[in-house]
Amino acid sequence: MQKDIHHKKFTSIVILTGAGISAESGIKTFRDEDGLWENHRVEDIASPEGFQRNPKMVYNFYNERRKQLLSNEVKPNRGHMALAQLENDFKGQTTLITQNVDDLHERAGSKSVLHMHGELLKMRCQFTNQVFLTKKSFDEKTACLCCHKPGALRPHIVWFGEVPFYMDDIQRVLEKCDLFLSIGTSGQVYPAAMFMQVARQQGALTIEINKDPTANSPLFDKTFHGKAGDILPDFISNFFA
Ligand code: NAD
Repeated sequence: MQKDIHHKKFTSIVILTGAGISAESGIKTFRDEDGLWENHRVEDIASPEGFQRNPKMVYNFYNERRKQLLSNEVKPNRGHMALAQLENDFKGQTTLITQNVDDLHERAGSKSVLHMHGELLKMRCQFTNQVFLTKKSFDEKTACLCCHKPGALRPHIVWFGEVPFYMDDIQRVLEKCDLFLSIGTSGQVYPAAMFMQVARQQGALTIEINKDPTANSPLFDKTFHGKAGDILPDFISNFFA
């Protein structure tokens, strides 16, 4: 059955964003054509084993990402702004789930963002699991703010093999959403890649906005190929007009 895209009254929207929405803000996506994240092998800088093998390199990698995020060149783009506008204007419930570890959605004005893969501007004690805000670099020599041990703090980032945050909340909203938007994500990282199918099974309308076609593209009810910052402002104003 053809789902009616324009004339349905939605009550609950789930939006999943990935590295693509921040690309126009000057932050590189995860897997560029060379399969590397900022010139590093993903398994070296985004796995517990990589951290154990070479903590210095991993601390340094996230310190550099944080510095870049806080530099004057990086700011939210029209895609982030459009989603913040949607959250503000929509009368029903919106849930913004991001795989991104940057804070560009918040800077654009989005109020409740579920950072399922963690946040660059946070660090965590490996012994107590206490989480602290940080804009500064830290490494294996930094004394932890709670247990005072050096080497206790790690980036508050979900690495491969670790369980993403907010999974119960995410499952709940997916089960009741009637519109699912996937923006700037390649659909290669699980479990986020499965969210569309959960929403679809509940009868939600599923829409993908991505620069390039993805492996999941044929499964969406509708796909728009192009840059999120070009597509989202018009898409959102037309869609909810
Ligand atoms: P990904 O790199 O695997 O995929 C990004 C997708 O975005 C690609 O399909 C690409 O075609 C598309 N894209 C690129 N530019 C775009 C644009 N302007 N508009 C729309 N789409 C665009 O990223 P992913 O699926 O998010 O998975 C990567 C993982 O990497 C996440 O877990 C995340 O934690 C991490 N990561 C985060 C950031 C960030 O926080 N900004 C940056 C890099 C990687």
